[in-house]
Amino acid sequence: MPERGNKYTKKVHQTGKRQSVKNPEGPIAIEMPHLRILAPADFDELRAALNEKNNGRGRKPNSKGEDPPLGVQRKRTRFPGQHAQCWYCGRELVWGGNGIKENLQCKGSRKWECWNSVGMNGQVFTGHVVHAINGMSSELPNMEEQYRSIVEKAAEAPDARLLMDLNQLTADEKQLAKEVKNFNNSLREYGPSPGFKEVQDELKQRQKSLIIRRTTLERKSISISDLPDSIGDLINLLQTAFLSLATDSYEFGSMLPKIVPSVFLYLVRMIDGGPCLPRVKFTVDLSGSFESDAPAELQSLLIREFTVDMFEIPKRAKIREDVLRLRQEGCNAKETIEHLSEPSSTKMIKSTDRLNAQMVEMGLSDPFQFQSEPPNDYAKFRRHLNPRYSFSMKEGYTRPTL
Ligand SMILES: [Zn+2]
Repeated sequence: MPERGNKYTKKVHQTGKRQSVKNPEGPIAIEMPHLRILAPADFDELRAALNEKNNGRGRKPNSKGEDPPLGVQRKRTRFPGQHAQCWYCGRELVWGGNGIKENLQCKGSRKWECWNSVGMNGQVFTGHVVHAINGMSSELPNMEEQYRSIVEKAAEAPDARLLMDLNQLTADEKQLAKEVKNFNNSLREYGPSPGFKEVQDELKQRQKSLIIRRTTLERKSISISDLPDSIGDLINLLQTAFLSLATDSYEFGSMLPKIVPSVFLYLVRMIDGGPCLPRVKFTVDLSGSFESDAPAELQSLLIREFTVDMFEIPKRAKIREDVLRLRQEGCNAKETIEHLSEPSSTKMIKSTDRLNAQMVEMGLSDPFQFQSEPPNDYAKFRRHLNPRYSFSMKEGYTRPTL
């Protein structure tokens, strides 16, 4: 029966705000036959199945029988804290890396379980993400036709995967019905045999899980109508849900992980040495702004991968191509400096020359190389030499391809 008043709000005088707490007088049950969707027996069965499924989950009371974090504000973190991952060990990045408030750092490196101790500026990264999303939404109008055809197709024919799941479910339901019938027949004919209770329990358990599966699938199959009808609607949705929010607000932060499902931080280094530099690969999935799962086809239309450098490009890499061209034209170091748009020194030109020569020798077009292991020739990278250090990956983590 529907109930009202399981909880009520109570004023907290310290903060002046009202907080939802359990109603000591208990709820009031109201009969509302006209709002009934499922038959009472089915509804009770579903509730029982859900209770069974959730049994033993959730927060446990402490020894005094109290809810431990009762009244404690839940910790919130700004994007991409606790969401972005270290590529090497798979752990989340946390704010406050290297003692700098604005920096993010691998959680594992703080506990001597990962060598990647390089931080990156979180706000600068969010700027890259917003730029990427804006870029993608400006391309959206070109996809109008493709988008519309996918949505129409999805509305006409349900998702193939969903259909397959539904068919499988129907088959499982039939199979179970048959087994239940056989079980009841043999029970009637031969009476209870030893172990019949276990079989009966198992059949009931399976029945419950089938009910849950059906409810979940049926909910999925109606969700197609929740998709934005057109690209225009989608752009509006992005605008209101997300792009209008301040980038450092918690609301923005809670929306972003859905739109940016993966963020991986890894390191690169210039081939002639120097510090390890942070580079980030992230995915933008605009269908993450929808309330329900998008069909696979639509998702692949609205997903893109990006790679951004989270460091200032060292000068010799910046002027590399200009220096190479000027040197090939026959300029000496002094003339090269005069022709460059940025001020430089003879020493810088020399080291740039060495870099260019090394690149030619190694047959490379990019002076930055992926750093797979901690470098042993860089004085600032010593975490992995500490006796406490022992590298481990987060449980269940497998490194994605970069
Ligand atoms: Zn790590």
